[in-house]
Amino acid sequence: MLSLDDVKFGPDGLVPVVVQDTATGAVLMQAYADRAALEHTLRTRQGTYYSRSRGEQWIKGLTSGHLQHVESVQLDCDGDSVLYRVQQTGPACHTGEYSCFHRPLLDSDSALPGGLDGTLERVYATIAVRLQTLPEHSYVARLHAGGLDRVLKKISEEAGEVLLAAKNGDQAELATEAADLLFHTLFALAEVGVTPGDVARVLQEREGRSGLKGPKEVG
Ligand code: AMP
Ligand code: ZN
Ligand code: ZN
Ligand code: ZN
Repeated sequence: MLSLDDVKFGPDGLVPVVVQDTATGAVLMQAYADRAALEHTLRTRQGTYYSRSRGEQWIKGLTSGHLQHVESVQLDCDGDSVLYRVQQTGPACHTGEYSCFHRPLLDSDSALPGGLDGTLERVYATIAVRLQTLPEHSYVARLHAGGLDRVLKKISEEAGEVLLAAKNGDQAELATEAADLLFHTLFALAEVGVTPGDVARVLQEREGRSGLKGPKEVG
């Protein structure tokens, strides 16, 4: 294992820290750490940084409650950059957004990794944040207040609507109803604490095992 002596701090005594959510794989934020902040992170597993604007050590979430449990810390190849992989409580961004990176300069021109181009993971992450913060004007907060049973009933209703739209061959309607079904399913997953990754693993285990699909079985 490496040590703090392997970290190449810049002339200002700081090293950039990239922060990744272990639940979704998303990049949450980028900040800086000095040697003391990094040491504090390694010792306490609380995401700790050095605020350049305030000129002081900063434990993420100390005032907002949006703390980070650091699962691992990695150095990049040449030691001038650090990765924290964290369990994030609430939003990582002080604006209340799930991730600090919510301001596109250039949108993707191809499919992103993840379910439905990464949309499932993003929506799930937003639902999980809303469930922790329960903002006043949030549909997720309203669903939560109504109780899980209501949502489960909603899921079966949406499934029925998917069924009808498919039966009618109405493509636009089917896409809408499938989105409703997926959203409420993601909500139930978040309420029960199952992640899209857990679902993906089950699907991946089954991949190629079906007797009805997969080139091996067919060929
Ligand atoms: P917190 O660490 O979440 O208690 O927030 C305390 C202060 O740190 C906020 O008011 C912001 O000034 C700053 N801050 C919190 N999160 C971020 C972030 N992701 N990026 C930059 N500054 C942040
Ligand atoms: Zn580097
Ligand atoms: Zn931010
Ligand atoms: Zn619907």
